Amino acid sequence: MIMADEENQPKDKMEAIVNLCKRRGFVFQSSDIYGGFRSTWDFGPLGVLLKKNVKDAWFKAMVQDRDDVVGLDSAILMPPAVWEASGHLAGFTDPLVECSVCHQRYRQDQLEVDSDGNPLAPKCPQDKKNVCQLGEAKNFNLMFKTFVGPVEDSANVAYLRPETAQGIFLNFVNILNTTRMKPPFGIAQIGKSFRNEITPGNFIFRTREFEQMEMEFFVPPDQGPQWYEYWKNERMKWYQNLGISSDEIRLRDHEQDELSHYSTGTSDIEFMYPWGWGELEGVAQRTDFDLKAHSQHSGLDLSYYDQQTNERYVPYVVEPAAGCDRATLAFLLSAYCEDEVNGESRTVLKLHKDLAPYKAAVLPLSKKEELVSTTKKIADILRPLMHIDVDVTQSIGKRYRRQDEIGTPTCITIDFDTLEDNAVTVRDRDTTKQERIPISNLENFMCA
Ligand code: ATP
Repeated sequence: MIMADEENQPKDKMEAIVNLCKRRGFVFQSSDIYGGFRSTWDFGPLGVLLKKNVKDAWFKAMVQDRDDVVGLDSAILMPPAVWEASGHLAGFTDPLVECSVCHQRYRQDQLEVDSDGNPLAPKCPQDKKNVCQLGEAKNFNLMFKTFVGPVEDSANVAYLRPETAQGIFLNFVNILNTTRMKPPFGIAQIGKSFRNEITPGNFIFRTREFEQMEMEFFVPPDQGPQWYEYWKNERMKWYQNLGISSDEIRLRDHEQDELSHYSTGTSDIEFMYPWGWGELEGVAQRTDFDLKAHSQHSGLDLSYYDQQTNERYVPYVVEPAAGCDRATLAFLLSAYCEDEVNGESRTVLKLHKDLAPYKAAVLPLSKKEELVSTTKKIADILRPLMHIDVDVTQSIGKRYRRQDEIGTPTCITIDFDTLEDNAVTVRDRDTTKQERIPISNLENFMCA
């Protein structure tokens, strides 16, 4: 019997996920053998598969399944001129306050507030009265700065991109000139971004190095509002199609005073993380701000000439900007449950099968040579089609539990009957139901 998921959730789901990720090789603390490097994480053998599946699912939905979006992979290092034009050099800042006693730094807008909305000073560990003496807020720019080439002077400054979007705007004309795309159309890109966050934390939710999945959709100016609505819906559906339930996710429109200077409307797609609602993705109307700014600063014309209407215009942009690491964490949290099968408790990751690191585990009932060689034959059939695991050690029950815990949707067991009837037992992760399938049907069964 499998008991209802809700009744069997651990008290601290976040701690359970962090432990599982470490124990089973999803996510490790980065530079661990040197004591770890704060807020950076390495994705292990299972984490890299899960994260790749998240990215592949995004790219498929945004590019492969459509005829109006193309892909891009632009550079991480970009010169100051880009960030001056985009407004990041002047305005990509968070308000930083520092305790004058212990020198701990905080993001002022993240401090708890009193009933009048005034920020409350956190406790200071070095002050006897335990009051934090916070100084004036300073604007702290979140971009990482470096130097390109051997000379460290101002002429050689470069920045690690804090978002992938600017690389897309810079390639707008290249893509118009090399493809048959015309507005409304989009350019999608997945890649690393870097932000020197003042207070990183919550595992892989807020880090200084992370991956984004961003798409800029260029439209005739009067079509901005309708495409904004369209992309909010599409993006909500994407998370739900991959297993996030409707009560774990919501769309929250930004208040007027939250909007970026260039935006006429932004909605956050938020997930119910264990600590409360947190942003997964922002869908923004960026208007023609970026293309116009780069046009002015570069001196190049970044408008579009519509031959049909004989009109020239600077397209408006609707941007769904998602975080790959945050989505990966949300999928893990949503999939995690502890339940009971035949009186035995288990941990199971009920990941959507497109996201599961391994699609199947191939398990011989024992280490006997005949079974192991049949296992190898079956693995050879499946390996070109999907990522699989082969596990020959420990009791079959323990091996099922191991696979449940990493989210493998199907276990394929080779037993002594297999040698007679050329069939295997296939076990479903979620229902734990087993059925017998001829080996000759296995490929079709697994790819259905
Ligand atoms: P937040 O308000 O949480 O700092 P943001 O509004 O600054 O996020 P955007 O600039 O809209 O974020 O970036 C798009 C997406 O990139 C976010 O929705 C999030 O999923 C991801 N992202 C942004 N900053 C980080 C970070 N420091 N670590 C991990 N993911 C991030």
